Amino acid sequence: MTDAEKTIREYTGAKIRIMEVCGTHTHEIFRHGIRKLLPENIELITGPGCPVCVTPVDFIDEALWLAERGITVTTFGDLVRVPGSEKNLAAARSTGAKVKIVYSPLDAVAYAAENPGEQVVFLSVGFETTVPAACLAVEHAKKAGLKNFSLLTANKTMPEAYGILAGSAEAFLYPGHVSVITGTSLYETLKQRGISGVVAGFAAEEIIRAISVIVENFKKGEPFFENCYPNVVKAEGNPAAVRVIERTMTACDSEWRGLGIIPKSGLKLNEAYEAFDARLKFEMPEIKGRANPACRCGEVLRGDCRPYDCPLFGKLCNTENPVGACMVSSEGACSAYFKYGIGK
Ligand code: SF4
Repeated sequence: MTDAEKTIREYTGAKIRIMEVCGTHTHEIFRHGIRKLLPENIELITGPGCPVCVTPVDFIDEALWLAERGITVTTFGDLVRVPGSEKNLAAARSTGAKVKIVYSPLDAVAYAAENPGEQVVFLSVGFETTVPAACLAVEHAKKAGLKNFSLLTANKTMPEAYGILAGSAEAFLYPGHVSVITGTSLYETLKQRGISGVVAGFAAEEIIRAISVIVENFKKGEPFFENCYPNVVKAEGNPAAVRVIERTMTACDSEWRGLGIIPKSGLKLNEAYEAFDARLKFEMPEIKGRANPACRCGEVLRGDCRPYDCPLFGKLCNTENPVGACMVSSEGACSAYFKYGIGK
């Protein structure tokens, strides 16, 4: 047994709830069987770290609104299976809507350039990790003088969400990938506000060590932050990625599934790139979606319930027939619990 495992297994103090806010952590924790290592008084909670999961039903309805008007919708694969109020994008495609899967936003720009007779919209969802690629795509489209490319944005940034979620956990397992872009100064600020956590890598021993660091620090009774992924995550982050976001986007209020509207937690195109904003370009009306009332994704994302607490889990809702977003994405909590047979 390693020292880190010993620290975890021998912990007998007050309960520590640790929220992981990265879908990749969620899956790696299951894949390595890390939950089985934990004593009863250390609990891992899955938070809103999956970009597809936190994207609200309104956004899917907006994408459907575009698709139903003959506009070509380009997107990463997961989003086509996320339910809107009435149907998903895959269903719209089966009845003739142009919904194209792409592997990067630049593929969508290339498609627009090759098909000048079509209006092409890329569905831009995701956190600080994926936003720079969408920003580069829109810069590229502007330089190329493309008039038939735009973004429908639902991008999110994590800083404001930590404050909302702080009551749900004693410490965060901060996301390695997002932290590569943002750096770690934010976490020092959160520490001053009494919010604790550590940045963790993705290998089993890195996650176990990060949990043991949380345990050691929690015992001291003071807010803490440690970077447990220092070979990859630097204090300054990735300045080039931050700069491309700053050149093209601006902060906006954003709705998160389960968390509601969080002020300044989203990114939309700035004035210089307004011509590439699909909502403005196509004069989209305000669209309010209606999530399936039986789905408890919102509570799962807040850490208020576990996927197996949902009566549909593993029965009406499974990875073949997902009822909610958290079962669609491979990074979603419900999908992870289902795949690894937890609570079935
Ligand atoms: Fe929603 Fe399905 Fe998860 Fe239930 S199991 S919360 S229906 S995604």
